[in-house]
Order: sequence, then structure tokens, then C-alpha cells
Amino acid sequence: MLFIDIITLFPVMFQGIKGTSMWARAQDMGAVALNIWNLREFSRSKQYKVDAPVFGHGPGMLYRVEPLFAAVEQLRSDSSWVVNPSPSGKVFTHEDARRLAHKEHLIFLCGHYEGIDQRVIDSLVDEEVSIGDYVLTGGELAVMVIIDALIRFLPNVLGDSQSLEEESFSRGLLEYPQYTRPEIFRCQRVPEILLSGNHSRIDKWREEKAVEKTKIIRPDLLEGKGGM
Ligand code: SAM
Repeated sequence: MLFIDIITLFPVMFQGIKGTSMWARAQDMGAVALNIWNLREFSRSKQYKVDAPVFGHGPGMLYRVEPLFAAVEQLRSDSSWVVNPSPSGKVFTHEDARRLAHKEHLIFLCGHYEGIDQRVIDSLVDEEVSIGDYVLTGGELAVMVIIDALIRFLPNVLGDSQSLEEESFSRGLLEYPQYTRPEIFRCQRVPEILLSGNHSRIDKWREEKAVEKTKIIRPDLLEGKGGM
């Protein structure tokens, strides 16, 4: 079982997703145990303050070191891996999701305002990850994205493990187009080949469509594949 602890000022943000769809399924089947911690509870200040103005000039508040140290030091063990989502982290990929799914214990920090004091990052954080080149107001949504992506790699969470193998990025390609009923909708037909029952021809068509789509939308994924 993968243990995940999330340290946040806004535990309520996780309530909905924690009990929904694959998150609920993964917990029910014992693949993951999720605990949400309120950072304020680790503050020893009178008003449970967790932030302070950034040193130097300029605007902005930062999460202080003490509550984050208290939280991580209480929760971590030798097998813990501490992740801080940050726009200045390495961009999170499909392979990172697979890698993190193999950890025993993940601790996620959810920053806000200008982020968190650098001493927390230097002393406690194992990895900083960005979910893309834009800036969110807080780490909670980023943590949800990361957990959602890694939960799919936990054993038996996805009913059909073949879908993991065929999905976008799993083979360095975007996924081919897919269709379901009805066969004709507003004059748009499902490609004839998909109704043929000929699996090898369908596989070939899917491969061609995946390469075609990847060339147009994400040519960078084809670099190193000889341009295909
Ligand atoms: N001052 C920081 C900077 O310029 O890099 C931005 C801080 S941001 C307003 C507040 C928090 O949102 C961050 O501490 C992080 O937890 C989260 N965050 C914002 N954008 C993110 C991204 N692209 N990926 C991951 N986390 C992000």
C-alpha cells in the first residue's frame, strides 16, 4: 500500500476528490491510504499563524519554516519521499507518475502566496515538480493532478491494465482517435476499419493515426524515434 500525507492550509479542497471515482476505488481496495493534514495545527504561534512577509524588499508572504518542519518531522520515516509542487520544479511527466507510484510513502506540501521558505526546500524536500509553465495560486490543485496521475499506476486500480499501455505518452505517442456508438451521428461516420473486426488492420490504423496526431500536436515526442 502507498501511504500519502498531504500538508495544506485548505483540507476542504481535498474532500470531494478524495471520495470520488478512482481515488475512492484505490482507497477502498487498499492500494493507497490518504491523509490530509491542516498546516495550521502544526503552528505554535498564538493565532496559529503559518506565514510571514518575505525578507528583502518587495511584496508577498511566505510559509514559515517552523510549522512545515513540525509537520514533516512528525510524519516522515526512512521510507518517506517529500514532494513540493512549484512552478520552478522539473516538469511532471507520465514517467514521474509511474516512478512516484512505486514509493512507499509520499508527503506533499501545498504552498500558497509566494511559496515556502527556501530552508524547508533545502532540508526537507526530496523533489520539486511543476505541473506546467503557468502559476497557480496554491499547491493543492497541483498535488491533486500528481496524485490523480500516479494512482492510475497502482496495481489493479484501473480495471483494464491494457489501457495504461495504450494511452498517450506510454509509448512516446499521443493516443489514436477513438469512437463509440452510434456508428453515424449528424452525418459523421465512425471510420469503417474500426467496424471491420480485423484486429491487425485496426492496430495498424491506430498506430498510423497516433503517429500522425503526434507529428502535428507534439512533434517533440518523436525526437529520438528517428522522426518516424
Ligand atoms: N513565487 C512562486 C514563483 O514565482 O515560482 C509562485 C508561488 S505560487 C503563487 C503558490 C504555490 O502554488 C506554489 O508554492 C506551488 O505550491 C503552487 N504552484 C503554482 N504554480 C505551480 C505549478 N505550475 N506547478 C506546481 N505547483 C504550482
